[in-house]
Amino acid sequence: MISMSSLYEHIDYPKALEAFNASNCKWNKFKDIHMKITKNKCPICEYLFNQCDEISRLDKHGNNLCIPTIDHYRPEDYYYFLKCNHKNYILMCFECNSSYKKSKFPLYPTSDIRWTKENFIEEKPLIINPILDNPLKFFDLVFRLSSRNKKVLELKPKVSLLETDYLYLKAVETIKLFGLGGCEESRHETESIDNYRVELLGNHFDRFYALAKARQIGMDEFLVVLRENPENREYGFIKFIAREQFEIITNR
Ligand SMILES: [Zn+2]
Repeated sequence: MISMSSLYEHIDYPKALEAFNASNCKWNKFKDIHMKITKNKCPICEYLFNQCDEISRLDKHGNNLCIPTIDHYRPEDYYYFLKCNHKNYILMCFECNSSYKKSKFPLYPTSDIRWTKENFIEEKPLIINPILDNPLKFFDLVFRLSSRNKKVLELKPKVSLLETDYLYLKAVETIKLFGLGGCEESRHETESIDNYRVELLGNHFDRFYALAKARQIGMDEFLVVLRENPENREYGFIKFIAREQFEIITNR
């Protein structure tokens, strides 16, 4: 999960907004500036867009799952009045957007204050918005070698959050909604682990595991490993590892 908190202050943002205003609500005008902030990654699942493999990353309808899309944070099905509000747009890969989020927008609690132009701002959404929410306040990482011998780098709710807290529930719902964690727990349920994003989470495990092992030894060791692959600095995961917001679990 990548923080996009600098988006609206970026020097190029006013230019994108001007192009959008002149375009009669073409939200793709924001794609470049959003991608500049995330260094060409999906801010939710951290898939690197320029690694799209059009053969292995197609869904059953032939859509390329890893292309960047700009869509509504609050879905236009319910929030028609935010359809052309530029602060309601978020960048996601096609898979996060169309296979996972779709038009979902759960709220806390099952609130009676809901979805009107006058009071939507009072709502407590249960989906992280990487522009407004700091992922470091919601999640820890888990490097997991599961009992099924699957390697995954998952998100889990930050250990310091109380289970009754809004932030905890928002973390849980975000993880579940985007399939970014809970792979081990799912083995006892009817849903197969293969329904989760094990390929993506496995690639993340491989990319960051040596960094996590080095960080367990010390910050100097972590920086040595990071220098070997400087492109890894641009992932949100690095901030979690540097701050020791992770654990390594090998349940075998
Ligand atoms: Zn994604």
